[in-house]
Amino acid sequence: FAPWEDPEAKPLIRFQNVTKRFGTFTAIDNLSLDIFEREFFALLGPSGCGKTTMMRMLGGFESPTEGRIELSGKDIVGVPPNKRAVNMMFQSYALFPHLSVWDNIAFGLRRDGRPKADVEARVAEMLKLTRLEKFARRKPHQISGGQRQRVALARSLAKAPKLLLLDEPLGALDKKLRQDTQFELMDIQEKTGTTFVIVTHDQEEAMTVASRVAVMDEGKLIQVATPDRIYESPENVYVADFIGDVNIIEGRATPEAGGEDDTYRIDWAEGETPLQATSATRFDPGQTCYLAIRPEKVTISAERPEGALNAVQGKVLDIAYLGNISTYHVELTSGTVIKAQTANTRRISRRSFTWEDPVWLSWTVTGGVLLAG
Ligand code: ATP
Repeated sequence: FAPWEDPEAKPLIRFQNVTKRFGTFTAIDNLSLDIFEREFFALLGPSGCGKTTMMRMLGGFESPTEGRIELSGKDIVGVPPNKRAVNMMFQSYALFPHLSVWDNIAFGLRRDGRPKADVEARVAEMLKLTRLEKFARRKPHQISGGQRQRVALARSLAKAPKLLLLDEPLGALDKKLRQDTQFELMDIQEKTGTTFVIVTHDQEEAMTVASRVAVMDEGKLIQVATPDRIYESPENVYVADFIGDVNIIEGRATPEAGGEDDTYRIDWAEGETPLQATSATRFDPGQTCYLAIRPEKVTISAERPEGALNAVQGKVLDIAYLGNISTYHVELTSGTVIKAQTANTRRISRRSFTWEDPVWLSWTVTGGVLLAG
C-alpha cells in the first residue's frame, strides 16, 4: 500500500493552492501536491515550466504569492532556509575548494556548534555511506567528478534533513557514470530514509530513480503518478509525448456496434483500414481522438499477421540500429510515418528488414492508449 494511495497517510510536504507570480507573470498556478515521507519524487517538464521555482519555495529561497506550504503539518512560508529541516544540493556542488573532503562534510555540523565527537562520528558515517573513506584528506580538485558529486551529497545529508532537494544532481557527469550514480543515489536514499525531491531534464533518469513523477507545464501539474503509470497510461497527448518515444495517430472514434462497451473503431488517414482500440475514457460517435502507441508495441513483419485487428502496410523509410534495439520508420500509403521498435535478442540476420522493404505493422487493441486530447 503506497502512502499516496492511503487516504489516512499524512504527507511530509503539502502544497495547498500555491500560486507564485513574478510581477504579472504566473510561474506557479494554483498548484496542490502532497509528497510523502521516504519518497523519491521527481519534477519533470520543459524549460520554464516552474520546476526550480517549486524547489526554491521548498528550500525557503522564495515565498508563494498565494497558498500554503506545509512541512510535517506546519506552515513553513516565511521560515528562513537554515531554520527548516530541508537541504538543497546544487548542480555546481558548491564545495569549498580549500577544505578537505572531511572538512567539507563537517562544515555545517561545526557551524551549528555540535560537539567534536558528534561531528567526527557523523562525518565518518557519511564517508562510509558515500564510499569516500579513502578520500577524506583530499581537496575537491584532487578527486574525480563522480567523487565530488558524492562529497556534495554527503555534505547535504550530514545534518540529517527531512527533505533533500536535488537540482540536476548528476548533470555534470557523463552518461555511463550518470547511470551508475542513479542506482547509488537510490541506494543512499533508501538507507537514510530521507525524502528526496529531484529536478532533472533527463526523463529516463526521473523514470529510473523516482517513486513518483510529476509532469509539469506552464506552472501546472499535468500528471502525478508512478513511472510505469506515466509511461503506460499517460493522461493526455502532452504527457505521452513528453515521456519516451511515441506514435500519435489522430482520428475519429466510434463505439463498435455489437462490440464490448469500451471498444472503438478509429477512422484515420488510412481510410481503407480503420483501427480498433479499447478505452476506459468514453468517446461520442465521431469524436476526435488520439491513439498513442509506443514503438515497442508495434510489430513489424513481412506478411500480414493472421487475425490481427490492427494491421497496416507500408515501406521502410529509415532504420536506426542501437545494438539492443532497432527502430524502423515505416511510411504508409497516406504518407503517415509510424515508428516500430524491435528488440535485437538474436544476432541481426538476413530476416531483418532494409530500406524500401514492403512490411506490415500491427498491434493489439490494447497496444495503444486512446486519448481525448
Ligand atoms: P529550467 O528547466 O529552464 O530551469 P524551470 O522549469 O526550472 O526551467 P523556473 O526557473 O521555475 O523554470 O521558472 C519558471 C518561470 O518563471 C520562467 O518563465 C522564468 O522566466 C520565470 N521566473 C523565474 N524566476 C523569476 C524571477 N525571479 N523573476 C521573474 N521571472 C522569473
